Amino acid sequence: MFKKVLIANRGEIACRIIRACRELGIKTVAIHSEIDKESMHVKIADQSICVGHASAAESYLNIPSIIAAAEISGADAIHPGYGFLAENTYFAEVCEACGIKFIGPSKESIEQMGNKIYAIELMKKSGVPTVPGSNGPVNPDDSKVFTIAKKIGYPVIVKATAGGGGKGMRVVNSQEELQNAIVMAQTEAKAAFGNHDVYIEKYIEEPRHIEFQILGDNSGKTAYLPERDCSIQRRHQKLVEESPSPFVSHALRKKMGKAARNAASAIKYVTIGTVEFLVDKKCHFYFIEMNTRIQVEHPVTEMITGIDLVKEQIKLAAGEKLSVYSEKVKILGHSIECRINAEDPDHDFIPSPGTINTLFLPGGPGIRVDSHVYSGYTIPPFYDSLIAKIISFGSDRQEAIVRMQRALREIKIDGIKNTSSLQSKIMKNEAFRKGNVTTDFLPKNIFIK
Ligand code: ADP
Repeated sequence: MFKKVLIANRGEIACRIIRACRELGIKTVAIHSEIDKESMHVKIADQSICVGHASAAESYLNIPSIIAAAEISGADAIHPGYGFLAENTYFAEVCEACGIKFIGPSKESIEQMGNKIYAIELMKKSGVPTVPGSNGPVNPDDSKVFTIAKKIGYPVIVKATAGGGGKGMRVVNSQEELQNAIVMAQTEAKAAFGNHDVYIEKYIEEPRHIEFQILGDNSGKTAYLPERDCSIQRRHQKLVEESPSPFVSHALRKKMGKAARNAASAIKYVTIGTVEFLVDKKCHFYFIEMNTRIQVEHPVTEMITGIDLVKEQIKLAAGEKLSVYSEKVKILGHSIECRINAEDPDHDFIPSPGTINTLFLPGGPGIRVDSHVYSGYTIPPFYDSLIAKIISFGSDRQEAIVRMQRALREIKIDGIKNTSSLQSKIMKNEAFRKGNVTTDFLPKNIFIK
């Protein structure tokens, strides 16, 4: 097992990883930017090192500084969390070259899944259902794209091959809109990922976003865990996640779980990852992408299975054998996660950084809070707006909803705007309570675009 892990991240996920390391008896090194020196992850780690100025490019994305910090502190492994360098092949390669274990899959796996066109091709070969699409990058000046779109049938969706966080995506309803949408998606993709390649695929109408946590060890053994339903999204970004899905039957779970496991086996996946699918009304499911890292929404799976995913991830990276058997995993209850972002839901979700004057976070039976904020903490404007994840657990979905509603009433965050009022509206909504959730839930039910 590792002796010292450097966490190349910040915020709630850095705290979450430090907690897992502490339970495993591993020493921790936090890195931080100049502006983050008062951050919770810095306070709770055994050691901390400043790696640069406030901008992410100069700190949490600064590979030479991070590697130097690992070498100075004697860390034998780096946990990248999510975002920042978590899916950066070059970073995984540099870690390896420096003899520092990257807590994640091999650089080959990251590379194979990082390019969505390549990933889709690979899934097809492994018998995993995919969305009908262009099977390669498209160009706005090439008339072939119109033939492809016509064949797929409108609406289609333009997506970035290096995509993430819902960026570089455009839904297109007719041939007239296609060329312009490709140009716009390419520009957005270039700005966000430094790669302008985009592809098109069939736009699945009113789908559910259902994903499977997978685990793998270095002997080739893989497992899947019960699904997470992440259909409540705003602009293709998740807001509420739950497990199990109110829509997925035992038979569908087994079928999709097996497909997810095939996806993992196809790339000899080691550690933990997530295979994402869209599911249409007829229960047809389609692979959309694989994330080769820990996900924001991992706690709902932990709550309903009793498995600590971050500890599993660290153990698998250290070469331990997989101890999870999909068939033996029991669903212990129901869990919901609400993301609390420092954003103003009444003004187009504009970020709301600033100082939290008073903070009261909820607790009591069946409530877990993963957060890094405290009274007096100043949220910097430089990073993502997630400030807390409220996770409820109940014996069934109804109890998980009631507990979440109670928790959302208890929260008190003074000084900044946040999304807890929107989450309360969602919990109260009839369609949500009935489990009728598809990715267009927010515009349809809460009238938010
Ligand atoms: P990203 O990597 O940017 O998160 P994904 O491929 O994971 O992109 O898709 C994010 C979300 O975008 C999905 O959960 C879904 O809401 C929407 N989406 C993506 N592809 C399609 C599609 N073919 N049809 C309908 N919605 C889609």
